[in-house]
Amino acid sequence: MSARNTLALKARSRWGAMLEAPDQVPALFALARERGLPLRILGGGSNVVLSADFAGITAVVATTGRVVIKQTEDHVLVEAAAGETWHDFVVWTVEQGFGGIENLAGIPGTVGAAPVQNIGAYGAEVADVFESLVAFDTVDKVLKTFTAADCAFAYRDSVFKREAGRYVVLSLRLRLPRPWKPNLRFAGLAELAEQPALDPRTVMDRVLYLRGSKLPDWRVTPNAGSFFQNPIVSLNEAAPVLAAFPAAPNFPQADGRTKLSAGWLIEQSGLKGFSMGRAGISERHALVVVNLGEADAGDIAALAARVKATVKARFGIVLHEEPVFL
Ligand SMILES: Cc1cc2nc3c(=O)[nH]c(=O)nc-3n(C[C@H](O)[C@H](O)[C@H](O)COP(=O)(O)OP(=O)(O)OC[C@H]3O[C@@H](n4cnc5c(N)ncnc54)[C@H](O)[C@@H]3O)c2cc1C
Repeated sequence: MSARNTLALKARSRWGAMLEAPDQVPALFALARERGLPLRILGGGSNVVLSADFAGITAVVATTGRVVIKQTEDHVLVEAAAGETWHDFVVWTVEQGFGGIENLAGIPGTVGAAPVQNIGAYGAEVADVFESLVAFDTVDKVLKTFTAADCAFAYRDSVFKREAGRYVVLSLRLRLPRPWKPNLRFAGLAELAEQPALDPRTVMDRVLYLRGSKLPDWRVTPNAGSFFQNPIVSLNEAAPVLAAFPAAPNFPQADGRTKLSAGWLIEQSGLKGFSMGRAGISERHALVVVNLGEADAGDIAALAARVKATVKARFGIVLHEEPVFL
């Protein structure tokens, strides 16, 4: 499975399946049940730590198709199959002049996984433009349509992550608002506000440029993007950090808590560039765990445990991994 995960971990699966049509999903789950085999779902493998040996079926969602459902004066409805590549879907919308997801360009992986952790970047997240999705419920064995409220989106979280393994997302529908309003709140994008006749493509190109300048390319240095979530903590928990480092990045939340920067905490703990065996923290970005060659899930888990223990000892803050251990 090393070519099917962006961390390029050494990993094997006893069985494999490509899901190319939605009706294959219930059929495969029925087969797995009949044979008593565990079944796990994989998209582009960009947010997983794959176990070294999986004694079941790994099913890759490979359904395709994108369509404009409807255009009105105040919105455009677009839909894509779960196996579509997320970035290609973004480009496809932008090429038609539809704005709304250009800030999410360049995020690896599939359309179906996008709502699973409510992907986000550059001040936007998929929940902002979410209309509905269709998923197969492996418990009730029926197709279900989910509204945004059903998905219970939160920061890098949704019902699909909380009830991991229960639902297989089959298609995603987005509502792109009209007229387009650029979202330039994020540092690096704000200066585009000065640009006359700004369009979604220009914003997308800037996002791609910024991403390329910050993150190591997973094709060159295998990684899974941000490895730890930015911790959202109470003001009490944040107090020791902010007392010792008044300039520590923190972002007050609507619920009275504050979001700290996991990358900053890791860097301040002296771990940027740190390595342990075959896994390490990127020299370029303290939030990115990299495979230094031939690593497996055990190496990644050991490094992650060390990072968490060090940050906890130094700042009293508990970090949580972003990728799913499958
Ligand atoms: C270099 C790099 C940069 C990244 N930058 C960002 C970023 O800016 N913002 C961000 O939010 N994320 C980012 N990520 C993380 C990742 O790209 C996203 O989480 C992406 O949505 C994962 O998609 P995937 O298809 O690769 O999912 P996978 O890694 O294959 O799967 C992730 C989880 O989703 C489940 N899953 C996959 N497909 C489905 C489906 N159809 N139905 C139900 N469950 C499913 C899997 O079982 C697994 O639990 C980055 C990753 C990398 C490598």
